[in-house]
Amino acid sequence: MNGRNGRHPTRARPREAAKAADRVAAAPEQAPIGAPPHDVAQRDELERLVRRMLELLGEDPERPGLRNTPRRVAESLRWLTRGYRLRPQEVIGGGVFNEAHESMVLVRDIEVYSLCEHHMLPFYGRAHVAYIPNGRIVGLSKVARIVDVYARRLQVQERLTDQIADAMEEALRPHGVAVVVEANHLCMMMRGVEKQNSKTITSAMRGAFATNVATREEFLRLAL
Ligand SMILES: [Zn+2]
Repeated sequence: MNGRNGRHPTRARPREAAKAADRVAAAPEQAPIGAPPHDVAQRDELERLVRRMLELLGEDPERPGLRNTPRRVAESLRWLTRGYRLRPQEVIGGGVFNEAHESMVLVRDIEVYSLCEHHMLPFYGRAHVAYIPNGRIVGLSKVARIVDVYARRLQVQERLTDQIADAMEEALRPHGVAVVVEANHLCMMMRGVEKQNSKTITSAMRGAFATNVATREEFLRLAL
């Protein structure tokens, strides 16, 4: 991969130019795993790689049904990994408000779609995110957007859960944060062990949810 030097703005069509402008505004976050392609030249390179992958799988990339597949797969992968190009502060924007409310706030059943980093196959399910405000609350839709920032990357469910909790802590400095993610992993369901009905549940408990059994139990009773 050729880092940040591969952009060719003169070749960009208007839609791509607009996207490129968005990307300038949203500087790539420092991710623990390498950031994916984020410009037109790299999208084109990704497209070539998908085309080559089809050949290696024994397909004919020129047959009519596959002719546009490399472009679609490249764009789809970029969409599914757009979280690399988002930061929680940006998706929250002005969505944090001063408020004296100090009881638990729970956002339940947030849809999660992510890709496992071991097989690049989807895992999907739901996240439940709770916090106890300490003078600040966040718009409820913003909680779902924080989940997406981290879900739309190559992930392991354990890290996804922790990153959501970290972002909530950093944005709100609350008395506590609790996150539970329940997900089905296609890499388990479609291949190998074929455990179709197994669900993986991960949790992160911070602050009052870690130290106070009653608070944690209230959360678990409401969330699950
Ligand atoms: Zn996997």
